[in-house]
Amino acid sequence: MPVTQTREILGASRLDNVRYAIRDLACVADEVIKQGHKVLPLNVGDPNIFDFATPAHLVEAVYKAMRENKNGYAPSQGLPRALDAIRGEAARKGITTVQDVFVTTGASEAVDVCLTALLNPGEGLLTPCPDYPLYSAVLAKMGIALNPYYLDEGNAWQPELADIKKKITPHTRGIVLINPNNPTGSVCTRKMLEDVAELARRHNLVVFADEIYDKLILDDVAHLSFAAVAPDVPTVTFGGLSKNYLAPGWRIGWGIVSGDAAAIKPYNQGIQKLLRARLCANHPEQYAIQPALEGPQDHLPIVRQKLRSRRDLTVNTCNSIPRISCVSPRGAFYAFPRLDIPDGDEVFVKELILKKHVMVVHGSGFGQKPGSKHFRIVFLPDENTLAKAYAAIAELMKERYV
Ligand code: PLP
Repeated sequence: MPVTQTREILGASRLDNVRYAIRDLACVADEVIKQGHKVLPLNVGDPNIFDFATPAHLVEAVYKAMRENKNGYAPSQGLPRALDAIRGEAARKGITTVQDVFVTTGASEAVDVCLTALLNPGEGLLTPCPDYPLYSAVLAKMGIALNPYYLDEGNAWQPELADIKKKITPHTRGIVLINPNNPTGSVCTRKMLEDVAELARRHNLVVFADEIYDKLILDDVAHLSFAAVAPDVPTVTFGGLSKNYLAPGWRIGWGIVSGDAAAIKPYNQGIQKLLRARLCANHPEQYAIQPALEGPQDHLPIVRQKLRSRRDLTVNTCNSIPRISCVSPRGAFYAFPRLDIPDGDEVFVKELILKKHVMVVHGSGFGQKPGSKHFRIVFLPDENTLAKAYAAIAELMKERYV
């Protein structure tokens, strides 16, 4: 065999912009684990690694489907009974102009499919800042430049309408609204949804309403679905079983296409084309969709009660630590406290892992206003565990900054 020189196979340069800080920090944690320590993961929004379990009737439905050999491919759009249940759910959310629904491998795939089906090179999408990094990763994969609009910490992390207006260009095709929000836990007001709808109408934008946490509202406020407030605006509402139904590993999500029928038709055809090209979402797990949406919901008050108490502990403790302040999240299970320190937030977060074995995610991993510093906490663990984590954070703050 002739000896040839190794030539590296380089990945696509458009991936240079893909960041997924939530999982990237795992490398730092691995170092600590190798030294024999346990790391407390307050970085991943997975309820099932804490004291939350998938409702038993959903597990039974999937098990039964598997035993009955529903293990082949499913229809590309999704199982008919699952699609019916999602339409029913859309009606309960007050969405009156549903044009289509479809099932995907997690809401993540719905996001990927819907952005890919919409955007041409040179076009753009407004995404929140801070954001859930999937959106920027999909855009980077498509070679589309990020155009983030700010969420306003001084206004309970509501979208900054003036900033949205400023950032709309003739090439903007849509806007992402994450409500309840990851990473801030904010819940949009009706006025905000109406204002965004008005902008969408004026500029012919598609609204991507990511409402995957819509049943995890922790305060006495109603969750309003964007598509219910703006029935005429072309909208895709994302949902799924990962959070509300405590089954993120099943990878079941969906999209609800709504708005003016004639306006959204060609775009929806593109979505359906891509859904056919990728064959189908996980099949047996789709049998859990109908029992989830139409069956007992008893787990929800228990989940919300636990989260409320853990949220209160998080906000009260964070606000008692010098140089940390925290806007109270109203939904989901994330808090995004602000850090008033001279170092960057990534330095703080890495030190917290290395010295205190607690893993949170730096605000810069989600994007944030220049000059501001934050970290994201997942407050899913029980109160004892959280209290230990917050004591460790307080200690690090004291040792390093106070
Ligand atoms: N959208 C938001 C705002 C999320 O926080 C997440 C997961 O954390 C997703 C979408 C992805 O959900 P899924 O597990 O259904 O892919």
